Amino acid sequence: MSLQTALSACRPGCGACCIAPSISSAIPGMPDGKPAGVRCVQLDENNLCRLFGDPRRPAVCERFGYDHSLCGDDREQALERITALEQAT
Ligand code: SF4
Ligand code: SF4
Repeated sequence: MSLQTALSACRPGCGACCIAPSISSAIPGMPDGKPAGVRCVQLDENNLCRLFGDPRRPAVCERFGYDHSLCGDDREQALERITALEQAT
């Protein structure tokens, strides 16, 4: 794997984008969606989505792609940056 590839992929087990942002669409177990900063009920103990590949997974989750400017170098940076973006919008 090239360095570029290593730097441009989602980190399995990060899950920051399943915690920091608000999600307005219904999620199984969270029918009104999810407030910002609240852990999605579908995020498992390894910070992986239980609905991966499941049609009930909200479309917005499919669209959240890895973006280094948001995801940063580690999970803490991702949580900080996504929270800051959420508060700014
Ligand atoms: S915040 Fe970025 S790196 Fe973390 S799980 Fe989401 S897309 Fe992947
Ligand atoms: S449904 Fe899955 S991808 Fe979407 S926020 Fe919840 S854990 Fe994350």
